[in-house]
Amino acid sequence: MNRLVTLIALSALALIGALATPNHAAHADEPSPRSSQALLMLYPAWARKNVCASNAYAIANPLAGKIVRYQTPVAINPHGVPQVWEAMRNFEALTSGAVTFRVVDTDPVIGIVVVTGDALNREGQPGCGHVSAQRVTPATLQLSVNRDGVIQSRLYVHLGSSHCDHVREGFQPQALSEHELAHALGLLTHFTGFTGIEGITLEMLVTLTAVYRLPPGTDVSALCARE
Ligand SMILES: [Zn+2]
Repeated sequence: MNRLVTLIALSALALIGALATPNHAAHADEPSPRSSQALLMLYPAWARKNVCASNAYAIANPLAGKIVRYQTPVAINPHGVPQVWEAMRNFEALTSGAVTFRVVDTDPVIGIVVVTGDALNREGQPGCGHVSAQRVTPATLQLSVNRDGVIQSRLYVHLGSSHCDHVREGFQPQALSEHELAHALGLLTHFTGFTGIEGITLEMLVTLTAVYRLPPGTDVSALCARE
């Protein structure tokens, strides 16, 4: 029950992003740079800071200062992992449709592929979850993006290993799936409320929603420098 109440509260917060989308924009996918900046300014300073650090200026982002993300709906092959389905449903509902998925049953060239059993920890040993641009370890996460800031990579979400049951480890059964999926969607570094096993939190949800309310390639460098 508490979980439900929390999610409803988070959903209401995510709606701030939805309501802030200008109604007069004829082409919702291409708001002017000014409206993008105005939108981002409606978010609290901590959210802008997270967007800057975790996406625009993350090391894995080759377009420093610009938003990089998948075009929606994001193609994903969940390979039947129920916790990933739950995570996808939660993201779609709680971001009020800013993040949407298109489930495919073959591994997409551009999109997300879920793999179980070979996750690594930071030391490269069997761990709970990681995201990589290669199917096989050793794993690095460097995004391939086009000039418009749209991610062109196939990213692998690795869940669980001989040393970690990804269903039991997190705060909820789908928490680790939510965490790794958020990495693959473009939250490239950790921040308060996005550290590993907590699943969807207010901070993660608002930051991810902001990234997906902004068009790919949005130059946020001026806003980032101001903080
Ligand atoms: Zn992580």
